[in-house]
Amino acid sequence: MFTDSRFDDTASQGLTRLAVDPFEIEREAVIAMLERERRSVLASMIGLAMLAAGVAMLPNAAAMTVLLLLRAASFVYTHKAVGELERVMRARKPAQSARRVVLFAMCLTGITLALMLWPPPPDSSVVAVNLVRGVVVIVVTLIAVTLAALPVARDAMLASFWLTVLGMIILHPGVQHPALVVMLALIVIGIRIYSASTGEHIQSAAKVLVENRQLSEDLADALAHAEFLSWRDPLTGLFNRRKLFEETRIERSTQPRHLMTIDLDRFKAINDTYGHGVGDHVLIATADAIREWGGTLPAAAGHQAFRLGGEEFLVITRGLDDGAAADAAERLRSAIAQIARGFSEHPDIRISASIGLTGWRFGEGLDDALLRADAACYEAKNTGRNRVRRAA
Ligand code: GH3
Ligand code: MG
Ligand code: MG
Repeated sequence: MFTDSRFDDTASQGLTRLAVDPFEIEREAVIAMLERERRSVLASMIGLAMLAAGVAMLPNAAAMTVLLLLRAASFVYTHKAVGELERVMRARKPAQSARRVVLFAMCLTGITLALMLWPPPPDSSVVAVNLVRGVVVIVVTLIAVTLAALPVARDAMLASFWLTVLGMIILHPGVQHPALVVMLALIVIGIRIYSASTGEHIQSAAKVLVENRQLSEDLADALAHAEFLSWRDPLTGLFNRRKLFEETRIERSTQPRHLMTIDLDRFKAINDTYGHGVGDHVLIATADAIREWGGTLPAAAGHQAFRLGGEEFLVITRGLDDGAAADAAERLRSAIAQIARGFSEHPDIRISASIGLTGWRFGEGLDDALLRADAACYEAKNTGRNRVRRAA
């Protein structure tokens, strides 16, 4: 309903963050990569379907179907592993084991893709063989580029792919044309180089994203800080006069309202006798007493406390009837009269306040109500100070 005037300096913390956390950049890059992987599932399935079409045309289709099923299983496993890594990274949880699973999945991907290049029997259809080889090279390329932000997993995939191809060549020497083997090696190297440069792009894009986000957070902090400074009295942390007029412009409450003008008694003498520093401490102690007193008001009642300037304060209460407001004002007076106990090094210091209380009628301007409260406070001064006077 109303804001408590409790001093809150969370907003007053300055702009201290400068460096961008490298972990955040990596996290952004990996999340962007995992998103791309998720979005490319349809393309991967089309690749699998094309592989299946090529396999169906091969004379050793039965044996190749087993390899194709292995490839499909590896695809499903990788998809799950990547989904888990994305979940963990988004939740900012430790991602070590999810990363290991992705690494393992990428090794399987490299191996199962290379197995699709199993040397075809001599009577194979050229179309089928080219279809399978073309799809495998394209898929390896796309995966390597997609994995640019996870270079270890990418290199593991490429190494597994290439080592499996080598293993097959050793098992079936002479079946693969040497030119084809060299070409495949060059393709793998080319893919690796291209993927690395894509990785740099992804990293710099992620850095910009993280920097922008951090800048927005810093700006939000700065705005909160500026708002704090513009609405609060820096000495006491209470609201200032500017906030008073800001608040009352948008008054929509239908609850009874009261104003209490609080003016410390003979404050100038405190300054003159004990020094300005002690005077400041008295002002701070008064604000603390007002805050503490506000905490004792009925839960349904709202209040706002302002330092209007010098040793003058204003409290607006809402939800108290006339009797309860008068009791509350009296308790506040008594609380301020006890502040001196906290100044043990100045046992003779006398601290008290005169309080003017008035109801703030609906439709009535704040200035008119303030005039009445001030007049009541003046009367309290004239009738001996350290007392509450209520305006009619
Ligand atoms: P009365 O009982 O009639 O209210 O007397 P008073 O001395 O409290 O009132 P007066 O208006 O004569 O003096 C108020 C003093 O408050 C004068 C000024 O130096 C002092 N003052 C104003 N702002 C500050 C402040 O921020 N810190 C300190 N220490 N003193 C302040
Ligand atoms: Mg005064
Ligand atoms: Mg005074």
